[in-house]
Amino acid sequence: MKKALVCGAGGFIGGHLVNRLKKEGYWVRGVDLKDNEYGNNNADEFIIGDLRDVKIVSEVVTQDLDEVYQLAADMGGAGFVFTGDNDSDIMHNSALCNLNVLEEVRIKGIKKIFYSSSACMYPEYNQMDPDNPKCSEDSAYPAAPDSEYGWEKLFSERLYLTYGRNHGIDVKIARFHNIFGPLGTWDGGREKAPAALCRKVAETPEGGIIEVWGDGKQTRSFLLVDECVEGIRRLMESDFHGPVNIGSEEMISINDFAKMIIDISGKEITIRNIKGPTGVAGRNSDNKLIREKLEWAPSMSLREGTEITYKWISEQVREKQAANV
Ligand code: NAD
Repeated sequence: MKKALVCGAGGFIGGHLVNRLKKEGYWVRGVDLKDNEYGNNNADEFIIGDLRDVKIVSEVVTQDLDEVYQLAADMGGAGFVFTGDNDSDIMHNSALCNLNVLEEVRIKGIKKIFYSSSACMYPEYNQMDPDNPKCSEDSAYPAAPDSEYGWEKLFSERLYLTYGRNHGIDVKIARFHNIFGPLGTWDGGREKAPAALCRKVAETPEGGIIEVWGDGKQTRSFLLVDECVEGIRRLMESDFHGPVNIGSEEMISINDFAKMIIDISGKEITIRNIKGPTGVAGRNSDNKLIREKLEWAPSMSLREGTEITYKWISEQVREKQAANV
């Protein structure tokens, strides 16, 4: 039986990844600062611990592991990453997790590690035109991410690559593009655009108005978490190291995405665009490399993923409203 450690197992993607590994027959240890808030805690062993602490890291990274998945990061949506208020935490906390885990993987002689980077590491200058963003893997340099979150990801990608080169560790790096789905953060300030928009629509009565940050013309693509996890596992099983994009190529403007969610809800709701942190003007996954190297790419439509996500978030909203009555 293969043994895996999932760092950040209490988080959104980590929780789903644990389930997938369990389904495949792995024994899984999870580690996180906290339990998964939606009860998605299915690891065989779950350790509450801080990966900034080398003592914890040496406890959880044991020699018997076949694979480590490093997804722990101090992160959130635009309201967390682009305000500037959390920059030092983002850089310090996430870099420490990566430095500690990777060094312990080297010490314990573990052969394979996965690292979750982000599309936020791509240069801002290629993402100024909402209709023609460029996010091919080879467009990363000259580096110019628009957030410290992106800079930390870029630094850590390079860190992982050095451990691959200097210590022979089989390093796999994916650049995720806006992953969404059930059992993800949907309120509290760290939620990302899809969850925030689903929540706003679910909370708004017929005939109401939702606020959307920016002019609504900014473009993005969104990938359902199941396909993200599929991509992670395919990358791990391949002989390709990356960095490689794991994202959807179905680009949409934020206002059109909000309209799609409103349509799914079946309600009459109006959009009001307001000032707010938005990030780059345009971003879309480029899946040429993943298709070439893994002979696979995500294929689910945005509408299908959004229907699944809206259903879950509207249930959460209903339960919360019922609890507050
Ligand atoms: P998440 O916030 O739900 O999960 C991250 C987890 O890491 C959290 O549960 C958090 O408690 C944990 N963590 C943070 N600091 C820690 C520490 N010091 N010690 C132990 N655990 C710690 O986020 P997610 O959406 O599941 O993202 C997982 C990874 O994928 C992150 O590295 C993130 O940067 C990356 N990513 C996510 C997206 C996305 O759209 N969700 C996009 C690009 C990249």
